[in-house]
Amino acid sequence: MIKKNFSLQYYNTFGLNVKADFFYEFNDVSDLISLDYDFKNGKFFILGGGSNLLFTRDFNGLVIKSINDKINIVSEDNNFIYLKVGAGFVWDNFVEYCVNNNYGGVENLSLIPGTVGASAVQNIGAYGVEAKDIISKVYVYDLENNRAEVLSNKDCLFDYRYSVFKKSKNNRLLITDIEYKLTKNNHKYNINYGAVKDKLLNKKINLTNIRDVIINIRESKLPDVNRLGNAGSFFKNPIVDKKKFLELLQKFPSLVYYKLSNERYKLAAGWLIEQAGFKGFSLGRAGVYSKQSLVLINKGGAEPNEIIKLSDKIIETIFKKFSIKIEPEVIFV
Ligand SMILES: Cc1cc2nc3c(=O)[nH]c(=O)nc-3n(C[C@H](O)[C@H](O)[C@H](O)COP(=O)(O)OP(=O)(O)OC[C@H]3O[C@@H](n4cnc5c(N)ncnc54)[C@H](O)[C@@H]3O)c2cc1C
Repeated sequence: MIKKNFSLQYYNTFGLNVKADFFYEFNDVSDLISLDYDFKNGKFFILGGGSNLLFTRDFNGLVIKSINDKINIVSEDNNFIYLKVGAGFVWDNFVEYCVNNNYGGVENLSLIPGTVGASAVQNIGAYGVEAKDIISKVYVYDLENNRAEVLSNKDCLFDYRYSVFKKSKNNRLLITDIEYKLTKNNHKYNINYGAVKDKLLNKKINLTNIRDVIINIRESKLPDVNRLGNAGSFFKNPIVDKKKFLELLQKFPSLVYYKLSNERYKLAAGWLIEQAGFKGFSLGRAGVYSKQSLVLINKGGAEPNEIIKLSDKIIETIFKKFSIKIEPEVIFV
């Protein structure tokens, strides 16, 4: 049933009390087709768990949300298993399912909020693993042209927090299911990340222990969305060329960075924000999380504008101090 004038407060992890003119949860594309909505001319938005979004105002259109949480084995052999998972499956429940069944590849992405569908949109990543490493196919439905398509991993043009689904003309592509390729044995553990490595010392290296350690690390440094509204890392880590990197390093010897290649360096946006004096900073009811400056929080009852003002202030200050324009990772709707 279509709901009208629907509050999205519990459908975005910032907890912003914005409304959608119309809201519809569906299982199958056929449910959407039977709506007879004019997706070509009408305004619509595909919502997952709302954990990577900033609703900037009420949404004057139709918000659709998949609740397809089916999981099917497509094929398997001695080494690999291919699973087709519904877009509405809660991401961390999927990770838990894999770990419990000893399917490897996804364990480092434990406890990331959101849904399976969005894992491909943002190419989610954490602790040295990205969704692109395990996605084999993405099943989509083109809402404007009423056509189902299957995209290969290559077709998705995955990059750092980027995929083909982020091109603006592609917001008509509804992801219905994703197929993941996971290992059944000879798992390739990715445990070189400092904190993960340290916490695994004296522990058996297996999927369960890696998941537990990662959950533990994340819980200690990220705010619980049920208690403090946020959307995880608000900004992307900026990537600069060697010239700019060397210039900064000379000026700021404690610069936190990761070398991508001889020419490309990824800088820790959290470090830049902290150096600019924003750790624990508040502006109205919006704030910078005290344990992780990359996370902006709703301190309670914030309006979208308060988060936007804080974000603008941070971007401007970082630009003045470091001549770097940081960009939001969070999607503004
Ligand atoms: C505390 C916290 C920690 C986080 N940690 C991480 C992290 O470590 N790494 C990381 O990468 N991200 C992280 N995030 C960000 C976020 O969890 C991910 O980006 C997640 O994939 C968003 O999923 P979602 O279902 O909530 O998507 P939403 O926020 O609802 O939507 C995100 C985008 O995907 C689109 N979309 C959603 N579903 C579909 C679909 N079925 N078809 C087509 N488009 C769709 C939406 O239109 C929107 O453009 C974190 C967020 C929080 C709150």
